[in-house]
Amino acid sequence: MRLAIKKLSPFSFLIILFFSFALHAGANGKDVKILPANVIQGEPLMAVIEGVKNISAVKKMTFDGQPLGIFMYQKKPTALIGIDLRKKSGSYELMAQFSDGQSIKKIIIVGAREKIEAPLGIPQKLGGDTKESQNKLVSTLAEENKILANLRTGKKAFWTEKFVYPLSNIFVTDDYGYSRKTGEYSIAHKGTDLRAKEGTLIAAMNRGVVRIARNFRNYGKVIVIDHGFGLMSFYLHLSRMNVNEGELVKRGQTIGLSGQTGYALSPHLHLSLRINNNSIDPMKFMDLFK
Ligand SMILES: [Zn+2]
Repeated sequence: MRLAIKKLSPFSFLIILFFSFALHAGANGKDVKILPANVIQGEPLMAVIEGVKNISAVKKMTFDGQPLGIFMYQKKPTALIGIDLRKKSGSYELMAQFSDGQSIKKIIIVGAREKIEAPLGIPQKLGGDTKESQNKLVSTLAEENKILANLRTGKKAFWTEKFVYPLSNIFVTDDYGYSRKTGEYSIAHKGTDLRAKEGTLIAAMNRGVVRIARNFRNYGKVIVIDHGFGLMSFYLHLSRMNVNEGELVKRGQTIGLSGQTGYALSPHLHLSLRINNNSIDPMKFMDLFK
């Protein structure tokens, strides 16, 4: 104890004083508002900087050490965070660093998601419920996932207005985040299934660039829209695609028609959202824009 005290020179005290000042005075009118208050694995967060005039006042934001894209939303510097379904539950640090040298740190507690498993068969068109078609499903899904995990994203937000649902009537037929047991495999449902009879108009959830408009074995006809800074919306099992890769689409623009192409047992829209390749619950994402 005595030794410890001896080691602290008056200069060290000054440093300690300075850092505690920086941490608290970091507030100094500034704050980071986090929405929603509670989050579990597979859910999104929105961090909004309060008390600064413009985006240049924010130098950097990180979550768990990873840099976040910062954009203006409703006149405030904002960042989106995707807590992946597979991210360990526990506490993580969110940090905002300002151009004036101050910083604010917040601790985010990520809760564990309840593990739910339900059986799901393979349709006849993909070989039915045989061991062979189960193996084929898993290996081809891995290939498709690889393509969809390596899409380029714009280094800015392409959108400025709230996100909208891709369908005019929203009815969830299958939730996000549980696991589907197919033979000995367990495949996580990383999206929300929405009721949509064959040929229902599908709208872009927001402005963005089409990165994928392609036909896959399992995901069927797929459109992926990049909204910038790693935020992407995925529309699966379509019967028709009205847009091309590289095309800029507007919020609410019809991009295609719903269907049941690929690994689908009936017509519906499978909607997925990812932030920096972290899959999140689309319905929870839409709650951020209420
Ligand atoms: Zn689905």
